[in-house]
Amino acid sequence: LVEIDHVTKRYDHLEVISDFSLDIEEHEVICLIGPSGCGKSTLLRCVNRLEEISSGEIRIHGDRITGPGVDLDRLRRDIGIVFQGYNLFPHMTVLENTILAPTKVLGMSRREAEEKAMAFLERIALTHKANDYPDRLSGGQQQRVAIVRALMMEPMLLLLDEITSALDPELVSEVLDIVRDLAAGGMTMILATHEMGFAREVADRICFLQAGKVYEQGPPADILGNPQGERTQAFLRSLR
Ligand code: ATP
Ligand code: MG
Repeated sequence: LVEIDHVTKRYDHLEVISDFSLDIEEHEVICLIGPSGCGKSTLLRCVNRLEEISSGEIRIHGDRITGPGVDLDRLRRDIGIVFQGYNLFPHMTVLENTILAPTKVLGMSRREAEEKAMAFLERIALTHKANDYPDRLSGGQQQRVAIVRALMMEPMLLLLDEITSALDPELVSEVLDIVRDLAAGGMTMILATHEMGFAREVADRICFLQAGKVYEQGPPADILGNPQGERTQAFLRSLR
């Protein structure tokens, strides 16, 4: 589905992503792990063009999405992104937050969007919060709403950046449940996370990033349980 092909990303002279290549299959869930500053967020932001890459190419379904002549509105409809800290609009209710993009961007009728949003909210057991403002929700609830907001656009790829790191441990499992649900439904996802428990639960494949490259990758049991590379071993040790 996604081909990241020899991508380099520089901020001035700082090379954050270096000749990075990674292919992601349809329905695959990939977790990016690695030390702070290794480029996880930058890579996700490059995939939906919140950042421009310096060289290389990214393709989706074989179509180049980097470089000139790409319809960015279309691209961002197809690729959902959710960040740490949920960033719901505080002056809008849960329902208004979720129907904003589909009504404005897709031209969906308000009624249709509301029905769809309520169906999603029901799935995450939050229909009773539909008319509340975000500050009346717990962090975990807000994060789930942020995911629903992204799902309203029916993305073919979901990018999730540290979606559990602002949460108290007991709320992490709420968010984990919805990600697991999405994975079961076949959603292709790329996640950046610091939480190895989370990565182990949801990932088909874990990529350990080091100095802007994939240093080691494989199934969670291998990477977390029996890492081969010295850097991976040191990183995992540092978390204990
Ligand atoms: P963390 O685990 O802390 O979230 P990360 O792996 O997501 O880290 P990035 O946020 O991708 O790391 O940052 C990678 C590097 O790029 C860091 O050295 C960071 O300082 C640098 N960087 C990120 N954004 C910018 C920017 N807009 N301008 C300059 N440098 C940046
Ligand atoms: Mg980051």
